[in-house]
Amino acid sequence: MKEFFKREDCRLCGSRNMAVVLDMEAVPLGDDFVTREQLDRPQGEYPLEINFCNDCGLLQSTSVINPDIIYSNYLYETSSSLGLVRHFEDYAAYLMDKVRPPKGALTVDIGSNVGALLKGMQAHGMTVLGIDPARALARKATEAGLETWAAFFNREVAGRIRSEKGSAAIITANNVMANIDDLTDIMDGILELLSDDGVFVFETGYMVDTVQNGVIDNFTHEHLCYFSILPLLSFFDGHGLELIDVKRVPTKGGSIRGMVQKKGGPRPVSSNVSGLATLERELGFEGMAPFTVFARYAESVKTELVDMLTRLKAQGKSIAGYGASIGSTSLIYYFGLEPFLDRLYDDNPVKIGTYSPVQHIPVHDSAEIYEHRPDYVLNLAWRYAGPIYRRHARYVAEGGHFISCLPTVEVSA
Ligand SMILES: [Zn+2]
Repeated sequence: MKEFFKREDCRLCGSRNMAVVLDMEAVPLGDDFVTREQLDRPQGEYPLEINFCNDCGLLQSTSVINPDIIYSNYLYETSSSLGLVRHFEDYAAYLMDKVRPPKGALTVDIGSNVGALLKGMQAHGMTVLGIDPARALARKATEAGLETWAAFFNREVAGRIRSEKGSAAIITANNVMANIDDLTDIMDGILELLSDDGVFVFETGYMVDTVQNGVIDNFTHEHLCYFSILPLLSFFDGHGLELIDVKRVPTKGGSIRGMVQKKGGPRPVSSNVSGLATLERELGFEGMAPFTVFARYAESVKTELVDMLTRLKAQGKSIAGYGASIGSTSLIYYFGLEPFLDRLYDDNPVKIGTYSPVQHIPVHDSAEIYEHRPDYVLNLAWRYAGPIYRRHARYVAEGGHFISCLPTVEVSA
């Protein structure tokens, strides 16, 4: 596969009847922060175009980067993200309660990272197996007693799991489905691996939340799909599967947790499924209207933010950013923030001392705010504003100012 290609057809239904919602032109891989030694390494910028399928209603990126480039050397550990450890413990408890799998049965997690969910499932006595293409993470999980294969899940891998370990009572995929270009191969694998009364449970960003809450930082090269229920219903149906339950969860700015069984399986279909489908129709998500509103909103935030930062710079103020992540890269590129930011702050040890993708804005430990004393810190990690502002109350007390960019542009202190 080439480094990059542009899709012309819808990833779920194959239609070519697509309309552009957001065009981000040239954006690098959002998580490709480099060390000082890697500063000379060439990094690509690729067009990022978000399209709406007029036939099935899927919002999606038509720009596809070879997954080997993104994931094989991936370093981001799920457990380092604020609030996610507790999330996975709760998730394991939810699965056990909701699915009631046979004692000790096999549960497979696709995109298992360092095994946060597997650890929870193991604690409930389940046999666990992780599948993750990031070699370093897979090794780390396996060493911690959570067997993980360094691979991309597909039909071939599913067949190998089945012949070595039998069928799976539970297959999970959290924040994975949106990152896969060939979803048919994954669905075929799930159909192959799942036991007849087993379930596939996935969590993925919910398009309605992304659009309604203006989560512009969700638009990255890693996210290929922005799922909603309506396009998924017919997609699963076409692959021998059926959606039997769905609920909205607050993860990552608004997500859905869906439960799927083999078509005609033993579990009843919850009214939650038709409920959410109805809501999407009522909100007009079968057509372009909500996306037009969203695009206008994103444009107005951009204008307001750039005007404010331009004014501050003209007054000689120093400005830093808070957040060195895949999402912050998106915001820096979409808003065009590079000329304004002297540096970025972050709390993730993996990111501290690195430089942002392509633009090489240096990343510092947030503790250094008190040495540098920037006049303003633009919070790019806006969904974590609460904990960040609490942690750095002293910065504000000593005369510093945080600027929020989303959902609205304001100087918060
Ligand atoms: Zn479609």
